[in-house]
Amino acid sequence: MRVHVVGNVCVDTTFRLDRFPQPGETLNASEHADGLGGKGANQAVAAGRSGADVRFLAAIGNDAAGAWIGEQLSHDLDVGHLTTLPRPSDRSTVMVDARGENLIVTSASCAAAFDPLADSDFLSSIEPGDIVVMQGNLDPAVTTACLRTARAAGAMTIFNPSPLAAGYAPDLSDVSVAIANLGEATLLTEAAEPAEAARALIRQGAGAAIVTLGALGCLVADGEGHIESIAAPKVAVIDTSGAGDVFCGCLTGCLAAGIDLAGAARIAVRAAAISVGRTGTLQSCPDRREMKTLME
Ligand code: ATP
Repeated sequence: MRVHVVGNVCVDTTFRLDRFPQPGETLNASEHADGLGGKGANQAVAAGRSGADVRFLAAIGNDAAGAWIGEQLSHDLDVGHLTTLPRPSDRSTVMVDARGENLIVTSASCAAAFDPLADSDFLSSIEPGDIVVMQGNLDPAVTTACLRTARAAGAMTIFNPSPLAAGYAPDLSDVSVAIANLGEATLLTEAAEPAEAARALIRQGAGAAIVTLGALGCLVADGEGHIESIAAPKVAVIDTSGAGDVFCGCLTGCLAAGIDLAGAARIAVRAAAISVGRTGTLQSCPDRREMKTLME
């Protein structure tokens, strides 16, 4: 069973600040660093570190940042499925305050233009039983078409609708597992209560739904409406950015290893807790040895 992560990759520049600036204000950061980011890349790396055989499909620009992304990603993944487009590579600015909260601005020059059905060998290598994972960074129509194609090819599809464009109502009928944080789940379903939001995602077409709840862990709803609440371990928060991606990637790796959905979510909650206790988005993701220990 292979995992195909289809999404975005970018250069993240992370600034650490005591507090976020007000409009019109300039603040000095106590630290800053460049790192690999993008929800697609984060989830692909986390799935790979969880032992999955990952094929990562994303677009990079034909610039120095694109070359840097390819080199950095090659430490974790086969970069043979990256598509180079004649435009600037994508970038994010991540601000992290003293409480570990984050504010993120991201560009989608490559992500918005990337069409895996046209630009890559997406379809040709999907086998029945494979897992296809997508996020909200690509064009919504492209995402819908890819999920439909993957499902028709017999794949399990995992969709994390983040970022969620205002007014975008994704078609969940080709989604096997929808994973959304409570804010996104509420925007999609108008249900503010987590269990109700999870059930509503299933009514909208998802085969199963997971609503993540930050420090409270997550809630897993299967297709029969059975709900399981999974608590997160208590940790001293350093930086929550990327926690959702570690959760999605680790959950995918566990499903690829044959673990059931609730069991996979129990492990993913522990992997995400490790990441919030460390700085950075991808740097904070547990390594292969740590993932293996969590999965034993
Ligand atoms: P982010 O945007 O920060 O990557 P998210 O908004 O997509 O995350 P959250 O629900 O905030 O999603 O977090 C995802 C998972 O990370 C949670 O289900 C939980 O397992 C873990 N997590 C997040 N914050 C904490 C925390 N403070 N303590 C322990 N675990 C946490």
